[in-house]
Amino acid sequence: MSKAWDKLTPFFEKRKKLGQIISILNYDISTNTPEDGIADESDILNDFMTESAKISTDPDYIAALEEAIKEESLTPMQKKVVREAYKDVEVFKKMPMEEYTHLMELSLKSNEMWRKYKPLDDFASWLPYWNELIIAFRKYLTYFQKPGQSLYDAALDRYEPGETEEEIDGVFNPLKAYLLKKIPEVLEKQKKIQYRPIKAYSIDKQRHLTFALLNLISYDMKRGCVRESMHPFSDFTGRYDSRVTTKYMENDWRSNAFSVLHEGGHCLEFQNWSDEQFNNFADRMATSAICETHSRFIENIVSRSRAFVPLFKAACAEHLDPEFASWSDEEFYQIVNQVKPGANRCESDELTYSLHIIIRYEIERDLINGKIEAKDVPSIWHDKYVEYLGVDEPTDKEGCMQDIHWTDASIGYFPSYALGNLYGAQILNTMKKDLDFEGLIAANKVDVIKKWFADHDYCHDWMDPKDWIKAVTGEALNPQYYLDYLENKF
Ligand SMILES: [Zn+2]
Repeated sequence: MSKAWDKLTPFFEKRKKLGQIISILNYDISTNTPEDGIADESDILNDFMTESAKISTDPDYIAALEEAIKEESLTPMQKKVVREAYKDVEVFKKMPMEEYTHLMELSLKSNEMWRKYKPLDDFASWLPYWNELIIAFRKYLTYFQKPGQSLYDAALDRYEPGETEEEIDGVFNPLKAYLLKKIPEVLEKQKKIQYRPIKAYSIDKQRHLTFALLNLISYDMKRGCVRESMHPFSDFTGRYDSRVTTKYMENDWRSNAFSVLHEGGHCLEFQNWSDEQFNNFADRMATSAICETHSRFIENIVSRSRAFVPLFKAACAEHLDPEFASWSDEEFYQIVNQVKPGANRCESDELTYSLHIIIRYEIERDLINGKIEAKDVPSIWHDKYVEYLGVDEPTDKEGCMQDIHWTDASIGYFPSYALGNLYGAQILNTMKKDLDFEGLIAANKVDVIKKWFADHDYCHDWMDPKDWIKAVTGEALNPQYYLDYLENKF
């Protein structure tokens, strides 16, 4: 073992423990904390975040990192961990810690006020908090900005190292053109389908379905839990603790079902990193697009497949309504694959989903680059929904206040979802050379698919995305796999 690495270990250990506390507090604020307690708890959260950031300014830590960078004997994984850690050091060499703490305060405040004003559909009251955060966030990005990069490139780089607006446009433009043409065709074809009505089911019944679905995708309940939150998410808290949240809608059980399958899909990755990754602090390294690849793979490619229908339908019959047993497989398949342009991203179908992302990408890119301001976002949002999806949504709570991401300046994340779709289809193509994909799903053996991911994919997810996709599939990202997948399915 390298001496330089040994010197770093106590710092990495401390960062890991602080990261665990931050995750627990974050999960608590989103699921449990009473409204009046949120400000206090956010304050504690901010203290721990600052404490964690301060490690990157410790002279002993910086010296150990600089020694490790020159150390030839480190493994490729350790070298990557060191490189990533040093990025934070470089930022704090330029950025005063007070400015960072202030940004975190603005971010927590904006998020807190969003929780308050979203249900009231009151964008105007939230705007001052959000606008202040956006202005501070643009300044923050200048510390990361490299020569030739736009501010938005710097935002992307935080989530997807090396990704640029130009590259995203290169893959999103053909996808957008395809979807704008394809969606009206599919809607026309669907007119011939007789859909079963969606009945309302109590939240209690839906809770039972949640656990059944997590079981079907082989989520390990001994190392996880499920709570409710305003916006579903998953939380990697620690090696033995990967949590899911969901949101229940009484009048459409599909909303919770697919949220759980998505968030559970994230946790399969978190629960199945290798010992080498955990032992080398490389377990939180997967970029957002890599993570969204795995969640959307389970949500769509597995759970909306024909092979999964009998199992899914049986779970609905057992936990929601015995009537599902009388549905044909085809009827159930159609109901979970119905294309229906709507205002809500999380509740959207597989085909229209990427357009929700492209809209968010186009807006956040222009917002960060200063082409538009925060106050302009509601009307631009509205117009793009009309233009791309034919959806005329009158409210902001189902419009630009819908998602949590922008409320705490998690800007640069949205493209990950659509990139995840593209990566997922390419990985499916590779996986099918090794496995009888449909046969395994039909035989209730998603655990074998999970094992394939662990052996061929999760174990590489500490790499930069371009290296990871090559390691998994043998080639660079090729959007054609996803277009072929959609064309074949719809
Ligand atoms: Zn996700």
